[in-house]
This record gives sequence, C-alpha cells and structure tokens, in this order.
Amino acid sequence: MSSTDNIPPRPNTPLVAIIGAGIAGLCTAIAFAKFGAKVVIFEKADELGEVGASLQLSPNATHILTDLGLLPALQKHWIEPQSICMTDGVSLKPIKTLPIARLSRDEWHAPYALMRRTDLQRELLNAVRDMPNCELRLSSELNFANIESLQTDIEQRLEQKPDLVIGADGVWSDTRSILPNGAGVDYTGYVAWRFMTDTKARTHMPTNINNSSNIMLMMNGDGHIALYPSDQYEQSNIVFVTEHLGDPHVTPDFDAMLLSMSLNPATVRMLKSSDHLGCWTINHVAEGAWTNGANIALIGDAAHAMSPFMAQGAAMAIEDAYVLANLICNSGQAVSQGLQQYEMRRKARVDKVRTRAMTNRIAYHARGPIRAARNMVLSLKSPESLCRDLDWLYGWKAERE
Ligand SMILES: Cc1cc2nc3c(=O)[nH]c(=O)nc-3n(C[C@H](O)[C@H](O)[C@H](O)COP(=O)(O)OP(=O)(O)OC[C@H]3O[C@@H](n4cnc5c(N)ncnc54)[C@H](O)[C@@H]3O)c2cc1C
Repeated sequence: MSSTDNIPPRPNTPLVAIIGAGIAGLCTAIAFAKFGAKVVIFEKADELGEVGASLQLSPNATHILTDLGLLPALQKHWIEPQSICMTDGVSLKPIKTLPIARLSRDEWHAPYALMRRTDLQRELLNAVRDMPNCELRLSSELNFANIESLQTDIEQRLEQKPDLVIGADGVWSDTRSILPNGAGVDYTGYVAWRFMTDTKARTHMPTNINNSSNIMLMMNGDGHIALYPSDQYEQSNIVFVTEHLGDPHVTPDFDAMLLSMSLNPATVRMLKSSDHLGCWTINHVAEGAWTNGANIALIGDAAHAMSPFMAQGAAMAIEDAYVLANLICNSGQAVSQGLQQYEMRRKARVDKVRTRAMTNRIAYHARGPIRAARNMVLSLKSPESLCRDLDWLYGWKAERE
C-alpha cells in the first residue's frame, strides 16, 4: 500500500480535528485518513522544522510506518545500524554487542532505523499533503480555557462539529489541562545534551568502539551517551543524558559539569570537538486521564511524555496513532467506546515501557558494585537472550479491527 492510495472519505465517516503537527499529530492524521476519515490538523507554528538532530525508530514503530505506506519515502533517509554496542563509559571497554540489524529483520520483521527528525517530519508532511482527505493548517494556534471553548473554536474554524478532537500538542499540552483528571508535568531531574559530530571528532574514541555503522551506548554513573550514525554515515548524533538536580529553567554550565564527571578523557575530547545543539530538560507526564470519555483524546507526548532511557517516546506516539485510528474507523463502535478501548489498551503498554525505561536508567547510570554486576550480567547473556527480553516491545504488532 503506498501513501497515496488511501481510502477516499465515505459519507458519514468521522471528521477528526488534530491539535499539533509533531510526529504524533502527523502520524495520527495519516492513520485516520488511511482508514477513510476526514482530517484537519491545526498547528501553531508557521512552518514545521524540528531541531534535535536524529532519533531511533525501533521495529514496533517502523512496522506501523510500513503498514501506513511510508516505507519507500522513509528508507531513502534512514540508516539501519549493524549493532548496538554496550560499553562501560569509564573504561570504554565493550561489554556486549547486539546484532540489531539482523535481529530486527529476522525476529521482529521490521527494520531498526536511525534518521534525522527533520527528514521524518518532512516525509510525514508530504504524505499528509498527498492525501485528499487530510488538511494541514499552519499558523493556527488554538486558544481555549475549557472543553466548551475548545469545541466552539474548532467548530467555528471547521464550520461543522468534529466527531473527535485529538490533542497531539506535546508535553505542555493545553488539551490535557482541560480534561477532567488531566495529569500534570514533572521534571525528571535529567537533561539531554545533543550534539552532531563528524568522523574527525570521532577519532578521539578508541578504534575498537569507533565503528561508524553501530549504535554506541556508553554507560557511566554520571550520565550515558548514545552515539549513532546520521546523514549517510557522514555525521554522528550524540545524546548525552545527565542528572541535573538544580533549577530546570537554568541550563547547567557544560564545561564545569564535564570537569566534575568521571567520563573517559577520550569521550570528553570527542564531546568538546562536536557541534553542541543544546540542552533539553526531560519532563514526564504523570498518570491521568487521556480522554474525556466522549470525543476528546490525547496522543503522544501530550498523553505520556517519558524519559528517553528506552528511546520510545516517538515510537509510542506512532503506536497510539494506529491503535486510535483503527478503533475509531474500523471497529464499528461508537466514538466514546473506541476512546475507552484506546485508553485501556495503550495505558497498559505505555506503563510497561515506562517501567522498563526506569530499569534502564538504573543500569545505564550505575556506579560501584551495581556497575560491576551490570557488566557481569550483560557479558554473560547471549544476544539471543537479550533479544527475548525485548520481544514484547519490539515484536509488538497492531491488531486490525
Ligand atoms: C533527548 C531525547 C531523545 C529522544 N530520542 C527518541 C528516540 O530515539 N526515539 C523515540 O521514539 N523517541 C525519542 N524521543 C521522544 C520523542 O522525541 C517525542 O516523544 C516525540 O517527538 C513527541 O512528539 P509529539 O508529536 O507528541 O510532540 P511535539 O513534537 O512536542 O509536537 C507538538 C506539536 O503541537 C503544536 N502545538 C502545541 N500547542 C498547540 C496549540 N494550542 N495549537 C496548535 N498547535 C499546537 C506544537 O507547535 C508542536 O508542533 C526523545 C526525546 C528526547 C527529549
């Protein structure tokens, strides 16, 4: 199925209004339009362009993107890394190498991919523009104080009442704030520093771990680093997650922070010769309602922004999009029943991912005896047994109603 052979809108098919055109909003629009709904996306920005370099797309997400017909457009941009190399961040000694490209294709039947966020967003946008039943309105900020004013504003803009309003408006979601029992946002105490680095900066790393076709995961008590290829291997993306217990509104001084850490000197040299893209605070959306039980739903970071210790935030948004569109368009249930099913199914899975992310945080940032135990356990486990531990996540397939 290609991204252009979507089903044309049928009479009485749902009209869906989406707030926000990030990864969640665009994927939701494509999934709904594919299943025959008419979709309008309202985005406050004048143009789409996400900073933040690259991201990892695990097979649970690429499987859905493939089902939505986006594979030909996306695979022009993405890289399938050969392996994930887990390394002790202090000694830089490799602990375990997971052959992720093979495992992903053979065990989970979809690729594990790395790509620029801008490329992903551009291709999602192209797919939206190719769909006759899908409309994107830029420079369209929705301002509302309660459910009634949201519905009135949307109804006036669309000149009719939508069947469903979806808040894909990110971690600081206004839609979430008007839902009865909508959750608040907590700062996790962690920040993410992002960099792009070229092959020259990477030569600071020891040759045994300087493999430009792998994801290097360097685990250190002071923070972990994920280093992976980008831009057809000409660049590498670095995400460096560290604790920051001070005021989240004040960015810590990077050089002073490096001086206080036990990073390997080679890592420090590589970071210092890379292009620094900025520091992101990591926030978490607490447990709360994802729907109003009638005709409003949250999706992506608006529903469940999470810490990036499993690299699953966007992947969960892509899964949400497919599950919600499928329930509303294909199950024959009333919208309110579809929302109930959506909330029940997705919360259980997202909670499991969050729990696993917390376990990873402890393992990635371990010190002393826990660090030694982590290294021992990982080195003894076979790639196949590590792979079995991830089946529930990477092998997940959305059911069609
Ligand atoms: C350091 C870091 C690394 C990460 N790495 C990965 C990774 O490797 N893999 C992965 O799967 N995930 C990763 N994530 C998570 C991922 O980036 C997010 O989960 C995902 O981008 C969220 O997308 P979203 O569309 O829900 O929200 P957003 O991208 O925040 O989009 C929300 C949109 O809504 C618009 N909007 C807001 N309010 C309004 C309004 N009132 N009216 C109109 N428009 C509005 C905004 O302008 C914006 O365009 C990472 C996150 C971080 C912080």
